[in-house]
This record gives sequence, structure tokens and C-alpha cells, in this order.
Amino acid sequence: MKYTSTRGRIRSLTFKDAVMMGLADDGGLLLPESIPALTQGEIGALEKLAYPELAFQLISKFVGDIPSADLKDLIDRSYASFTHPDITPVVHHDGVHILELFHGPTLAFKDVALQFLGNLFEYLLKERGEKMNILGATSGDTGSAAIYGVRGKENINIFILHPHQKVSPIQELQMTTVTDPNVFNLAIRGTFDDGQRIVKEIFGDLAFKSKYSLGAVNSINWARVLAQVVYYFYAWGRVRKETDCQQVCFSVPTGNFGDIFAGFIAKKMGLPIRRLILATNENNILTRFVTRGDYSIGSVVHTFSPSMDIQLASNFERYLYYLYDCQSGQVRDAMTQLSDTGRLSFSEVERAKVANDFVAISVDGEQTLSTIRDFHARTGYVLDPHTAVGVKAARELTDGDVPVVCLATAHPAKFGDAVKQAIGTGPDMPASLAGIESREKRCEIIDADTATIKSYLASHSR
Ligand SMILES: *Cc1c(COP(=O)(O)O)cnc(C)c1O
Repeated sequence: MKYTSTRGRIRSLTFKDAVMMGLADDGGLLLPESIPALTQGEIGALEKLAYPELAFQLISKFVGDIPSADLKDLIDRSYASFTHPDITPVVHHDGVHILELFHGPTLAFKDVALQFLGNLFEYLLKERGEKMNILGATSGDTGSAAIYGVRGKENINIFILHPHQKVSPIQELQMTTVTDPNVFNLAIRGTFDDGQRIVKEIFGDLAFKSKYSLGAVNSINWARVLAQVVYYFYAWGRVRKETDCQQVCFSVPTGNFGDIFAGFIAKKMGLPIRRLILATNENNILTRFVTRGDYSIGSVVHTFSPSMDIQLASNFERYLYYLYDCQSGQVRDAMTQLSDTGRLSFSEVERAKVANDFVAISVDGEQTLSTIRDFHARTGYVLDPHTAVGVKAARELTDGDVPVVCLATAHPAKFGDAVKQAIGTGPDMPASLAGIESREKRCEIIDADTATIKSYLASHSR
């Protein structure tokens, strides 16, 4: 499989080079030159596979330059860290199928991709005799999932900036209790936006970036999208076994368009997905895009589902590439227009194409809490606030003619305050969090200043 950029200005790459490049050198995002189409027979044959084997079958179609035995080993090790035997089990409550994506080490769906990416980086760095210093800023979930993805790995150090005392106590502990010598938690005296700005400035210093082999783990890496395609197939197989359905809908709570874009790829591969339900919180740029063809940047609002408090969806450019029939010139024009004017608009024809793949709705804080409350009252099952956004969207936008799978993106214990507000008691703590407060911690409190962070990196990098 060869890879190309949405902006069309790089030479084609192998899978391994695409993973190492991350963001394309022309500023675009990397995509496979073609999406493998599966027949219904081939899809049916995948239905019975256990998760790691399914992952191997699907991921193999996009790789081509890693020996099968090595790829299989990478995948098996990535999912051995999950605590549920099904990896991503599907449960059925009150008319919806819930795809539980939170059985990885940090209790959110990002583990599905970052456990794999961490192993992949280690493998590729070893093969190339290279090293990498991963740098990222987090408002919570991504940081801990990235840290768990690379803790203890050879040839990799990771530096994660989080705003000091401005992430939830659980999220902070999930990061700072990882004491492996290759993990550096930096609590900056500032906000998440300061962290993002500092990281952007450091990556913008190309000489520094290359001198210290800086790498990123944000959702622009194709390997992350690829790993997420797998669970759409997995859920489809499980729901089909239960209901004998032909088609399903998926409801996906989203902010960065990463998770739902993986569903779009699964649909393009031939998985019988009737529609993808795109569910946003009050940060509704993606909903406005689907319902009105209006993609215009607003300002970020803080909500009960903080991992979706995003305005600019970094994976959206990948979708634009397909919406524009793979015309990279049109993508380049659109991205220029977006940075000049802060908005994009779409023709009737384009909007009809969007409507064929997606329906969308925005769910506010009140509705999020009442969905957690009602669902718990009817079923005893506790939804996290992100998952609740998707469940509410599924309730509003489906009429029961095809089964609907709601992606459960986090364990409710990660967002205990919102859950408590909704149902009066906090959620049960999973075993991995037991005693986390009393574990040894490692974290450096540091000024939110680019030069200070750079000198820290210079003295602690590989
Ligand atoms: C990151 C995250 C999301 C949003 O993911 P996208 O890739 O933007 O779709 C949703 N829920 C949780 C819990 C997350 O951590």
C-alpha cells in the first residue's frame, strides 16, 4: 500500500514512512492511495474472528512493508494490555448496542490506537537505529493514553504538557503515577491553550525539531485512524450475530473527527453502515457542517464532555479529500480559504454527498446529564458524558429500523463529577484506579514559557 497527502505535494510513501512522517511534509494529512474494497463474502468471513486476529486481517490490507509475523506480534502485544477478553465488548441495553472502547490501560478509546502506535514506533525506531522524543500537550485523555502507549519503550522519551491543577484529579494521576524513566510529565503554570501554543512553537522551530528528533502522537497519525477502523467491523459482527441485521448505524461522539472518520473508512471498505451519526456537544462546528453546510470556526465552550471541546477538527481535511473526489488542488484551496476567512461553505451537490454518509446533532449539557440519569434509571448502566452525547443523538436520529451501535469512548469513572451530578452517586472505580492516589508520582511543575520548555527538552531528550 502506498500513501499520499491530501494536499498532493509529496512523493508517495510506504506505510512505514507514512507512520514516521505523521503530518505530511506539505502540511496535509496522509491517506492510502486507495481504500481496499471488501466483498460481502470477505466481510462475512471476518465476522467470527477474535479481536486481535480481526485487527491483523484488516490492518494488513493497509501495510505491505512489515513482515506478517512481526505485524501480528505488534498487534497481539497492543491488545494484551486490555482487561476485557473481548477487547472491545458490545453490550445491549434499552434498544441500543454499546461498543465499550474503554477497557485499555487509561480507560478511554484512545488506548485502542495508542497502544498500537507505541509498539509500532518502537519497532520502526529499532529497525532504523533511530530515536524519538515525543512532545504533546493535553487537556486530559490523550496525554495519559500516549504515555501508556510508550512507557518503558526503547529509544523513545515522551514529554507531555498539562495545565497544572486544571485537569481532573483522575486524569492528572493517570499521567503522573507513570514513573518510567522515559516519561516526563510537565505541569505548566498556565492553560491548555498555552500548552498547545508552546508545542506548536517548538514544532515550528524546524532546526530544533530535527536536532532532537521530535515526534507527535496527536490524531493526525494515519496509524491511529487505521487501528480504529477495526472496532467498527468487530461491532458489526457482534451485532449481526445477535440480530441478523444487514445494516447498522453507528453513533459517534466526536470533536476531532478522528473516531468517526475511521467509521467512514470502514463504510468505504464496504462495511454495511447505513449512516454514521455524528454527535457533538455545544462545540458544534461539525454538526453545523453536516446539517447546514456551514463549517465556520467559533470559540471553544467548556462542557461536561471535555475531550470533545474542540473547534478545529484536525482529521476533517481527510474527509474533505474524499468529498472533493480526491482533488488535492481543491483541498489546498479550501485549507487556504479556511485559514484566511475562518469558514468553508459547500454546494448542494457536496451537501447531498455528506448527507449520504452522516446525520448529525448537537447535544447540550442539560441533555447530557438527563441522558445519563434516564439511562441509568431504566437499565442500571452508567454512561460517561461523552458516550451519553452519542446515546442521545442515537435516540433523536434513528427510528429503530436498523440496529444502532453507540461508541462508549470513556469509562464513567474518568468523569465522575458529571456522573455524580446526573445520578447522585459516583461511578464504581475500576480495579486499575484502585489506590492510584497513594502511588508514587513524578511530575515537574514548570513555567508556561517556550524557551524554558525547550531547555528542559534539550537536557532530558534521547
Ligand atoms: C478524544 C475523545 C473523544 C473524541 O474523539 P474524536 O477523535 O475527536 O472523535 C470522545 N470521547 C472521549 C472520551 C475522548 O477521549
